Amino acid sequence: MARALDKSHQHFKKAVTKLPLGVASNFRYWGEDKTIYVDHGKGGRIWDIDGNEYIDYRLGYGPAILGYADPRIDQAVIEAMQVGGVFALATEREYTVAARISKMVPAAELVRFSNSGTEAVMAALRLARAYSGKDSYVIVEGGYHGLFDAVLWYTDVEGWDEAGGDPELVPYGEGVPRLLKRLVHQVPLNDANRLEDTLKKHGNDIGALLIEPIMGNCCGITADRQYVQDCRALCDKYGVVMIVDEVKTGFRVARGGVQELMGVKADLCTFAKAMGNGYPISVLAGREEIMRKIGNGVAHGGTYTAHAVSLAAADKTLEILDETPALETIADYGRRLQAGMSRILTQRGIVHAFSGHPALGGLFFAAEAPRNYRDWKNSDYSFYDAMAQELHELGILCEPDSREPWFLCEAHDEACLSETLEKFETAVDITMDKLGKTDARATA
Ligand code: PMP
Repeated sequence: MARALDKSHQHFKKAVTKLPLGVASNFRYWGEDKTIYVDHGKGGRIWDIDGNEYIDYRLGYGPAILGYADPRIDQAVIEAMQVGGVFALATEREYTVAARISKMVPAAELVRFSNSGTEAVMAALRLARAYSGKDSYVIVEGGYHGLFDAVLWYTDVEGWDEAGGDPELVPYGEGVPRLLKRLVHQVPLNDANRLEDTLKKHGNDIGALLIEPIMGNCCGITADRQYVQDCRALCDKYGVVMIVDEVKTGFRVARGGVQELMGVKADLCTFAKAMGNGYPISVLAGREEIMRKIGNGVAHGGTYTAHAVSLAAADKTLEILDETPALETIADYGRRLQAGMSRILTQRGIVHAFSGHPALGGLFFAAEAPRNYRDWKNSDYSFYDAMAQELHELGILCEPDSREPWFLCEAHDEACLSETLEKFETAVDITMDKLGKTDARATA
């Protein structure tokens, strides 16, 4: 029996009279009959307004690294509410949090705060342009860097005719000035020669490379260590500022983020999501020589930057991530989750692979994980899309689109793991049935 969504449906009809698509962010609209409204979250679970309970593997696209309504963070936040908010003046705690970030991430020699990932990346790009004196930039196909015009360009892999050269770079909808396209260059991940060709041709104009070495918005497709190190060397060779966007990977895949895993130091890096366990805060950090341009020619700031509440959340969250085994616990859960899924799929003869990191993993129905966004097209994402709907019905919340990886948190416990695997098995069987796939056990 399908889960009841009557209250969400009713609320959608009301909400859409005052909010475009009935939601506060386009990505939260899943269709008139699928959009759900949340009542509350606790630990690794959320409850919708119809009372349906879900084990949540979206976690707000990553922020709830410890789990929803974590009492350690919320206590710190309650105390910080007494501070008074924002003053258009600095507080001492900014230094405390900045020093912690520098300790965890060697590339973060200096730190500035903002409120969202978008704001941090926007500031990084401005600073990179100021430092390099060059306005154009390179983005990696399948990457996502927020909702500002300069990065609202994506590679149209779905509409791509492989025989016809490179896929097209297109804006994310209307209102993005078409003339900005002149400044953007795209390259596929894991192909250093393509990057070098682009830099050879346009290096005099290119001031920045923007890269997510584990693509948090593209199924966790992962760069080779060597590729990331080649990017580092090419950026140095061509006078390009290397911006590693760690909005999703930061303080999740390792204490020092994806840079630690890849053995690289970015010139500039951006963090958000996991650093505040859900409270809005982000960071632009980087090499001192570049960061000192802030206030020395480059504008940066904002009314709500380093809000007392968000700063307290970051202070406590980072302390926990730095000083306890939280990240090891999360990664261990992820490995066991993937092993359990793999066993279920293998029994049924379903070819699959995982990508990314156990704490931020993608699942593919192909023999090997894609090496770049173009490869994603060759995996059986229709199976994933159909299975995701069944998982939702059963109370396992993953993103309906296979391009969003699964996020884990410290509060996902043994009960979550066994329930998830049990329901995953059911969802796989229903999906196979609906899509007419043969179960290997039936023919064995
Ligand atoms: N960069 C990356 C890598 C992201 O994943 C996101 C958000 N998903 C952003 C930037 C933008 O962050 P925000 O939504 O907080 O503006």
